[in-house]
Amino acid sequence: MKYMKKISLVIIVIVLFLITGCQKKTDLSKIPQDTGTTFLMDTLIQMKVYGENADDVIKESFARLREIENEMSVSITDSQISKVNNNPGKYVKIDRDTFLVIKKALEYAELTNGRFDPSIGPLVKLWGIGTKYVRVPADDEITQTRKKVNYKWVEINEEEYSVKVREGMMLDIGAIAKGYAADEVRKIVINNNVKSAYVNLGGNVLVVGGKPDSTPWRVGIQDPRYNRGNVMTSIDVRDKTIVTSGNYERYFEQDGIIYHHIIDPMSGRPSRSGIISVSIITNNSFDADALSTSVFILGPEKGLELVNKLKGVEVLIIKENLDIIMTDGLKSKVKLLNDDFKIVGK
Ligand code: AMP
Ligand code: MG
Repeated sequence: MKYMKKISLVIIVIVLFLITGCQKKTDLSKIPQDTGTTFLMDTLIQMKVYGENADDVIKESFARLREIENEMSVSITDSQISKVNNNPGKYVKIDRDTFLVIKKALEYAELTNGRFDPSIGPLVKLWGIGTKYVRVPADDEITQTRKKVNYKWVEINEEEYSVKVREGMMLDIGAIAKGYAADEVRKIVINNNVKSAYVNLGGNVLVVGGKPDSTPWRVGIQDPRYNRGNVMTSIDVRDKTIVTSGNYERYFEQDGIIYHHIIDPMSGRPSRSGIISVSIITNNSFDADALSTSVFILGPEKGLELVNKLKGVEVLIIKENLDIIMTDGLKSKVKLLNDDFKIVGK
């Protein structure tokens, strides 16, 4: 009798194993979906959306991104930001989107003691990184141009959505506009009842839900030494944003020195904080974008200190010497794909 019991137990186990083992995984390719790629906001935009209405969601998202670009680009002469820059000394009424972005940028300027500064425009223009006018400026040009940068001279009126700058100033919200835009795309995705989507605005990634086969989205972190597509780790996420600021995004090299696009207002030169890449992982892209640029300039110690003050924010910092520093919440999630990198404490 005992023997029979044992046999039936074994049979039950085998049957259970066969049932679960043979259960087919969701075949993602059979689920209605669409992907879209375009070039907007000076960067490559990619979307993958699952759902019957995926095509419409992508179209609506791209239209919204185009709208935001037209409002916030410094190189578009009739953008909202250009309107402010071209009318110094006057309060200029602008649309709600651009106002919210300037306001948030000023908050981060306060939070970082002006290392993040949306009035960085004159220095960005002087260096011309990523344009055909790129060059290493003379010291006195840098000194003179630095005098035009100070977020404390930007005045805003919340009732009217108006902004005033001084003569010679130039706002540049390139460090934060993509984050705002990514959150706006998420609103479109959710309003269209889509449960699963991936959005990448040139390294500014946001995912809605997990994948329809109930696995998380896997987001790669770029190896900062190489061109796009080489990842040094990937992180599994659901309903999160991963925003990276890196020295490889826009730069030029002269005499073995990399001059990149993130300028430290203190020196007037591309930031040399010992960091070459910062990824912020959190719930909203608007803050993540401001934070990634901020931490990049602040450096590992002060950057980590800032992130640790905030709730629900994780950071992965890559230093020049390829040391990796990260917040505790990431430690179990990050597996390095390359032995050149070394996870260290602080
Ligand atoms: P991100 O790639 O998000 O780190 O943003 C980099 C962009 O932000 C640059 O291309 C500039 O347009 C702008 N930027 C550069 N330096 C600063 C700074 N110190 N504070 C705020 N924005 C900056
Ligand atoms: Mg940023």
